[in-house]
Amino acid sequence: MDVLQLDVSGRPQAWVSPREAAVLYASDAIAWTLGEAFHVLRGGVQRVTGLQSRIEVHPIIAVRGAVPSRAWRVEPALSNPKLFARDRGVCAYCGHRFHADDLTREHIVPVSRGGLDAWMNCITACRGCNGRKGNRLPEEAHMSLLYLPYVPSLHEDMILRGRRILSDQMEFLLASVPRSSRLHA
Ligand SMILES: [Zn+2]
Repeated sequence: MDVLQLDVSGRPQAWVSPREAAVLYASDAIAWTLGEAFHVLRGGVQRVTGLQSRIEVHPIIAVRGAVPSRAWRVEPALSNPKLFARDRGVCAYCGHRFHADDLTREHIVPVSRGGLDAWMNCITACRGCNGRKGNRLPEEAHMSLLYLPYVPSLHEDMILRGRRILSDQMEFLLASVPRSSRLHA
């Protein structure tokens, strides 16, 4: 299970391992935490007290330090796993759900015709539909989109990137995901 790392204002920064989080605890870099501790790391025995050091790791941690204002405005990076997760593994043309191995990143306006390799021009399509559409626009191929692309918010991006997400983390992230997101569907 990973730890959701936020900046001090509550904006998601990264998923980190409990061990990486422990380093932040040990260096007094944690400003606040959310949720019940879900992991305990034991360190060496302290010479003075004879007690073993013990770090309780919380599912959500906010680290001290300046807030990088730039990161907030940047679009999350596009990847196939995140694209397929955004679109729930459903082909935008035939509407069937497929395993990731049978899905493709489909450019609505083909790249060869000036389409961008970006969230707003990419949609999930099965291999069959992608092959049938080929180098055409949807209207040229008489294939209409069953749903529309969108740019995930930073909070949604963290959900799309997460492997196994604890309920505390999901609750925190979903609270900031726009209603229009398919994650609420
Ligand atoms: Zn399809």
